[in-house]
Parts: sequence; C-alpha cells; structure tokens
Amino acid sequence: MTNAIVVVGAGVSGLTTALLLSKSNANVVTIIAKHMPGDYDIEYASPWAGANFLPMSTRENSRWERRTWPEIKRITEEVPEAGIHFQTSRIFRRDKDMEGPSCPSDPMFDHDPWFQSVLPDYKELDAASLPAGHDSGCEFTSVCINTAMYLQWLVGQCIKNGVVLKRAVISHIREAKNYSHTGKPADIIVNATGLGSLKLGGVEDQAMAPSRGQIILVRNELHPMITTSGTEEGLPEILYTMQRPAGGGTILGGTYDIGNWESVPDPNIALRIMRRVVEVCPEIAGGKGIDGLSVIRHGAGLRPYRKTGVRVERGKLDDGTHIVHNYGHAGWGYQGSYGCAEGVVELVNAIREENGESLVTEPK
Ligand code: FAD
Repeated sequence: MTNAIVVVGAGVSGLTTALLLSKSNANVVTIIAKHMPGDYDIEYASPWAGANFLPMSTRENSRWERRTWPEIKRITEEVPEAGIHFQTSRIFRRDKDMEGPSCPSDPMFDHDPWFQSVLPDYKELDAASLPAGHDSGCEFTSVCINTAMYLQWLVGQCIKNGVVLKRAVISHIREAKNYSHTGKPADIIVNATGLGSLKLGGVEDQAMAPSRGQIILVRNELHPMITTSGTEEGLPEILYTMQRPAGGGTILGGTYDIGNWESVPDPNIALRIMRRVVEVCPEIAGGKGIDGLSVIRHGAGLRPYRKTGVRVERGKLDDGTHIVHNYGHAGWGYQGSYGCAEGVVELVNAIREENGESLVTEPK
C-alpha cells in the first residue's frame, strides 16, 4: 500500500522533507507551493539565506542541527554540483555582549559550545588573531551554501525520485488534500509553509513572526567567514560574512529584526552593514573602505521565527486526514534541514505503523 503525501512549501524545509520521504516506495509525494526555487519574494525565505552552518540551538535542542551536519558534510565532499563548499568560520566575541539579552542565536557564542565536538577543527583563537574590540573567539570548519544552486539541486533530486511539483496557493491547509498527482485525496499532508503558517487557515500559528534579515551580496572575496557577537549599533544589527561557492558572491549581513515585515532594503542599514564589515575585515575591500566593495544586489528576507521554537509535530484535520508540521526554523533552516526532515519521516512512519502497514519497503 502506498501513501499519497502532499508537501505544502518548496523552501529548503519542504524540498528536503519531500526528498527524504521519496526515498521509500511506500510514499508518493507531490509538492505544492506558491513560490519555487528561482523566485525571489519576501514571502519566500530560502533564497535569501547566506547560507552557512553556525549552530544556534542550545545543547538540549541540538538534535536537528546535529543530525544535519553529517549529510551536509557528505554532500559537500561528494556532490560538488550541489553548490556547497567548506569554509573556515571565525566567531569573535565581546564580553559585554554576553552580559545582557542579545541575539537569539546566543549559543553560537558560548565559550564551551556543544558543537565543538561536531564541527571539525574547532579551536579557541589566541589574542593576536582577534580584531580590535573583541575579547575572545573561536575557529572551526563550516560550509557555505550557494542557495540558488542548492535549491535547484534539491528540486532535481526530488524529481529523480518521482516527486511531482506544482504551483498552488491555498488558503486553508485542508485544500492541500486535493492536490496529490495520484488523483486520490492525500493520506498525509506535510505543512512546510514557513512564515506562511501564521496566516494559513487551519494552522494560524500566532507564535510565528518575521525576523527580518537585510543583506548585501558583493563580488569581493573573503576568507574565512566571520561572525561577531554584537555591534556598536546594538540589536537588531548584527555582523557576519560568508563567501558562496561557484561565483555566488559574498554575503554581508545583517540584521535580526523580529516583527519587521519590510521588504525593501533600507539604504542606511546597508551603509552601516558595509561599514562594519570593512572595519572588521578591511582586506575584503583591499583597504579602500566601502568604496572598494562591488555590490551585486541589496536584499531583505524574513526568517520564519517561532517564539516557542520549531514545530515538528503531528496533528489531524477535522476529517481525520493526518498532518505533519515542519516549520518555524528562524535563522537555521538549512543547518537543521536534514534533522527536521528526518523527524517528519519518523512521524510519517509512526502513522503507517498505526495503520497496520509494514515499514519494510524497497528503497528506491
Ligand atoms: P520558506 O523558504 O519561506 O518556504 C516556504 C514555502 O511555503 C514557499 O514555497 C512558499 O511559497 C510556501 N507557502 C507558504 N504559504 C503558502 C500557501 N498558503 N500556499 C502555498 N504555498 C505556500 N539558515 C541557515 O541554516 N543558515 C544561514 O546562514 C541562514 N541565513 C539566513 C539569512 C537571511 C538573511 C535569512 C532571511 C534567512 C537565513 N536563514 C539561514 C534561515 C533560512 O533561510 C530559513 O530558516 C529557511 O529558508 C526556511 O525555509 P522554509 O522552507 O521553512 O520556508
């Protein structure tokens, strides 16, 4: 017996979930979405991400990121066309940022972080390696994902496994039931609508809010990638850089502005981001300051922030149709993508077991 599954959402969460579900012959997967890879829209977070792998969860909640790293590492090593490369990451801390409430990605700045045993080559930096105004720092091997390439690669992997993608806009989650390409109503709906879950009928999750991130994409190159624990401008202004592989440009960030829906990049924020970057890494612009930056594009995206943390959970529609949620990843949707998708597969398998189905099926 096969399950007709409709995944709503074609961001990194929906695509990765569809990919893992489609590895079993027991699942026939359709993806429906308003936005698909190739689109740039304020309602679609995934293309705007840097994206790198800098763990943001606490040790207790680290499952999703812990489970994602091995697969991201494998793809980086074995699948160059996926558009991911290794890049050394440096995190610089200021003691004063550790004292008060700060950026929600705080655990990244811990002195004894859980991820030191997960990400390779972790070491604390000596004082000579720190930029002015910083008190400590660490270095490890991370990755940077060229999101334009990687999202398309995920689409290709899904199609190879028989997944069918369709454009659709739904106003209530129950509508997804009618979109399976099998022609029969879906047995299971996966909700991977990101920030869309705030307004989508039948979900309307009031814990959801945008966390606006403004970025600048430049042609200049910079190794290693850097992130600092705070800025003189205070929150929501933050500082990070990463160079995308394969000519994807270098991302300069940014902001983490919860509650801000603005889609248009603010020129004053852009100036402050560029000034901060050339102060900490003058080499990016050959010592010429902001004038030495060659801008490809200014942008702003909305991270799907959830006050109560990510939702990977089962539920049911009024008519008994199963629904599995996978949304609310804030600023870590890529670095938690395989862990969360694996969580969805476990929930789908639990539904199948309850229905008396054997879980022993031929993988494709
Ligand atoms: P989305 O990408 O927003 O996709 C939602 C999907 O649902 C879309 O296809 C949309 O069209 C569809 N949808 C929504 N509502 C409906 C509806 N009613 N009907 C039909 N379709 C619907 N993450 C990292 O891991 N590392 C980083 O370095 C990183 N940097 C970031 C930097 C910035 C500036 C930003 C903005 C984000 C960053 N992130 C990063 C976070 C990451 O981008 C998100 O967590 C991730 O993209 C969320 O993916 P998603 O698939 O859940 O949502």
